[in-house]
This record gives sequence, structure tokens and C-alpha cells, in this order.
Amino acid sequence: MATVIDGKAFAAGLREKIGKAVSEIQSNHGVKPGLTVVLVGEDPASQVYVRSKGKQTVEAGMESTEHKLPADTSEADLLALIDRLNNDDSVNGILVQLPLPDHIDESKVINAISVAKDVDGFHIENVGKLSIGEESLVPCTPAGCVLLLKDHLGDLTGKNAVIVGRSNIVGKPVSMLLLQENCTVTVAHSRTQDLPAVCREADILVAAVGVPELVKGDWVKPGATVIDVGINRIETAEGKTRLVGDVDYAGASEVAGAITPVPGGVGPMTIACLLRNTVIAACRQHGVPVPDGI
Ligand code: NDP
Repeated sequence: MATVIDGKAFAAGLREKIGKAVSEIQSNHGVKPGLTVVLVGEDPASQVYVRSKGKQTVEAGMESTEHKLPADTSEADLLALIDRLNNDDSVNGILVQLPLPDHIDESKVINAISVAKDVDGFHIENVGKLSIGEESLVPCTPAGCVLLLKDHLGDLTGKNAVIVGRSNIVGKPVSMLLLQENCTVTVAHSRTQDLPAVCREADILVAAVGVPELVKGDWVKPGATVIDVGINRIETAEGKTRLVGDVDYAGASEVAGAITPVPGGVGPMTIACLLRNTVIAACRQHGVPVPDGI
């Protein structure tokens, strides 16, 4: 049976290190990193997520502020708020919770955030910097995947990595990060031919698809490391719901060398990496070295 990669425990350890880094920066340099989250509308999942971000930011010793705006907020008002936050020195990281209501142009809003404060790493300039290997703010979930892989496998050089999914927020940035780690990267998607055969070539298989349990056990190369990014809520036979990933966990864990569970795998890494990005952003903005170990 595969080793279970415990993302929950890893993320807790990372948050502890971040907490120590925050107190070090504050006592040595007088800088208290601050994260501001902007939420437009009342999407229940987004509200839960934003609460969780706020709580973990405070627990790490950072400043946390939230701007909750009504669903009918105009694009101009949202852009004006972002402009104020860009110019507020107490704000080191700005995150606009997605999705935004339909009447607001998401990419216009993301690209209005200061590149230096874009802790989600979605600004077009951060995306470009990541792709050419320049210092940037890296999207949180992809960064979390790579931290787990490096913790489990050490040096990733020469590994065959297959990423199923080519979204801008997960698949593409994961592929860029694994290229930087000297993997041989294949990105698969809905038009890929013979996806099972492509997956079977993978030493590292990352599933970021949004299709419950798409990746079957017999798509996995024996001994491979499987990172399941998917979070899908499905109905059980008893009429209840439960969370499953994009990988058939029971089948894959009989073949893989190691696998992330859902929940408790990649999921908890996202907020931990958001806190990490906020500390990195604050350090860069103040010309302070980023503490080791985060
Ligand atoms: P998107 O819907 O944006 O992208 C899905 C990708 O999967 C697309 O590239 C699509 O291909 C590909 N795809 C869809 N169906 C198939 C198929 N049958 N075979 C092969 N490829 C397919 O999703 P996201 O990247 O935003 O999210 C992916 C999953 O990760 C979701 O379950 C989401 O909930 C989860 N997630 C988890 C996070 C976390 O852990 N914190 C954060 C973000 C996402 P094509 O481009 O051809 O359409």
C-alpha cells in the first residue's frame, strides 16, 4: 500500500515555521506582515474559505483585514478599493476571492493588484516571471504541491511528471514549477489521447481536473507519487455527501508509492502557502531577507 502524504500535518508544520518567521521579522525589523482579503457577494464556500484564511493569518501572528462587499458592487468601486490597498503600506498581500460576480471582469481586477502584493500569484506579470524563471509570487496550490513532492521525494531532477489539467490556477503553474525542478513535464487535458497510457508514464502524477475519481488505479505506474489536487463533493448511496479527489484513492493507493488523500492532502497547503507568500511579499517590500525554512 502507498505511503500517505499527510498534507494536513505538513501544512501545520509550515504554519508554525511561518509564525516563528513572523515574530522574527517583527522583533528584528519592526515589520508585521499584513494580508487583506476582498470578498464580493455571499457565496457560502467563499465565505467559509475567507474565514479560514483570516483565522490562520491571525494565528501566524500577522495582521488580517477583510473587505466584504455586496454582490452588486460595481467594477469601478472594486478597482478603487484595490487602488487604495495598493497604496496602503500596512497591506503587504491582497487577495481578491474568486469567483467574482459576472458583471465584474476578473482579469481586469487581478491585474489591477500591485504585482508585489499579488499573493495569489495570478497577476499576468507574476505568471510571466514564473514562466521565465524570475523571482515572483507563486500561486499557492501549485506551490503546495511542489513542497509536498520535494518533502517526500527530495530532488525531483529527471523525474517524469504528468499533470492532468491545464488551468491557469493549477495545471499550468504546477508544470512551470516542476520544469524548474528539472522534471520532464507532460501536461494532459481533455483532448489528450489515451490519457491512461500517458499517466502510466508518470513517476509523479498530478491530477487537477475537477472530475471525481477520474484517475484509476491501473493508470498509475507502480511506485509513482500521486498528488491529487481535486476537491469534489459527491453524493453517497445513503443520500449524504462526501469529498473525493480526482483520483480513485482506493485503487491508486494499491499501486502508487505515495499518495495525497482528499481531504487532508493538497487542500491544507493552499492557505499555508498563502501565509508564506504574504511573509515573502512583506520581506521584499521592506528589503528584509526572507527567513530561512519557510
Ligand atoms: P479547471 O476546471 O479550471 O481545469 C480543469 C482541467 O482539467 C482543464 O484543463 C481540463 O481540460 C481538464 N479536464 C477536464 N476533464 C478532463 C478529462 N476528462 N480528461 C482530461 N482532462 C480533463 O479546474 P481547476 O484547475 O481550477 O481545478 C481542478 C481541481 O482542483 C478541482 O477539483 C478543484 O476543486 C481543485 N482545486 C483545489 C484547490 C485546493 O486544493 N486548494 C485549489 C484549486 C482547485 P481542458 O483545458 O481541455 O478543458
